[in-house]
Amino acid sequence: MTRQILVTAALPYANGHIHIGHLVEYIQTDIWVRFQKLRGNRCVFVCADDTHGTAITIRARREGRSEEDVIADMRAAHIRDFDAFQIEFDNYGSTNSAENQAQCRQVWSQIEAAGLVVSRDIEQLFDPQAGTFLADRFVRGTCPKCGAADQPGDNCSVCSATYSPADLTDPKSVLSEATPELRSAKHLFIELEQLRGFLTEWSQEPGRLQPEVARYLKGNFLGDELRDWDISRPAPYFGFEIPGHTGHYWYVWFDAPIGYIGSTQQWCERNGESLGDWWSQDADTEIHHFIGKDIVYFHTLFWPGMLKTAGLKLPDKVHVHGFLTVGGEKMSKSKGTFLMASTWLRHLPPGPLRYYYASKLGPGLDDLDLNPEEFVSRVNTDL
Ligand SMILES: [Zn+2]
Repeated sequence: MTRQILVTAALPYANGHIHIGHLVEYIQTDIWVRFQKLRGNRCVFVCADDTHGTAITIRARREGRSEEDVIADMRAAHIRDFDAFQIEFDNYGSTNSAENQAQCRQVWSQIEAAGLVVSRDIEQLFDPQAGTFLADRFVRGTCPKCGAADQPGDNCSVCSATYSPADLTDPKSVLSEATPELRSAKHLFIELEQLRGFLTEWSQEPGRLQPEVARYLKGNFLGDELRDWDISRPAPYFGFEIPGHTGHYWYVWFDAPIGYIGSTQQWCERNGESLGDWWSQDADTEIHHFIGKDIVYFHTLFWPGMLKTAGLKLPDKVHVHGFLTVGGEKMSKSKGTFLMASTWLRHLPPGPLRYYYASKLGPGLDDLDLNPEEFVSRVNTDL
């Protein structure tokens, strides 16, 4: 029987170029999609650039241009790299699209109607010079515990203490070097706890998630009350303004996964298909997400919770993979092992890397190692 399958790979962030670590996922997913197509299944592969959030604004300011300009350049670069590595998306969209905004509004209205949204004032550091609230990683200062200088806003790299950026002695904004002020602002939260019963049932159903992922969720999240999810950011923020909450924007992790739907919609419109045949609750479609292990809880807690509440199709499978190491170590700029896709292509064709990753990928979450000697011998021996 012919299956109808919608496949997604995680949306690359528009703040950086594609590197060989990213490529593990895109190559894995592309191979899986080609296999389904060869078997005669109807398989559609969508992706998009993830474009919103503070990091894009900061980069745009530093480069003296608009956010739209930055994301347009990065999109072109991403598409160039993916094409060169023969990743065959059926649609490559953007989270900053009219389709995505419309889908976000639709999902949000259902979440609000279900009574899952609460509003609370929270205190956050504000950069008076840059005129913006600061995410944790945009504050640095002296560790309140061990006194180490120039530590990040959320945890100390010397003594491993965790804290909030307001606890730092001598905090500084990394944007302007100004001393940030503590200011209060309204944030909207989604009460995930109301969905814990559903999420437990969904995530623990055999065959849906890899067993180690299901165990991780049960052991680390679902055994306890789920914390409210802070889903809005006050202006200025590069993203979509929330209807009915002027001056407040959806946090990038709200509109990023909805980008899967926005991208599917673009494909549907181009091909005379109906979106409902792919994403409505009872659509005769399988949805498969491929992601890295660093974004598991976004895709296995927040995302199914959003879809369930919005009355949309739930993922049939979330396929989680490990990270890429090079020579047994984390990729490192100083060691020259942090290779961009475009750098690889200046020296070697894409095929050998595709083959090497394919030969080493498995169903688990283990990291995949690119060992230079093994790479050479495997390519020379097998190919
Ligand atoms: Zn410390």
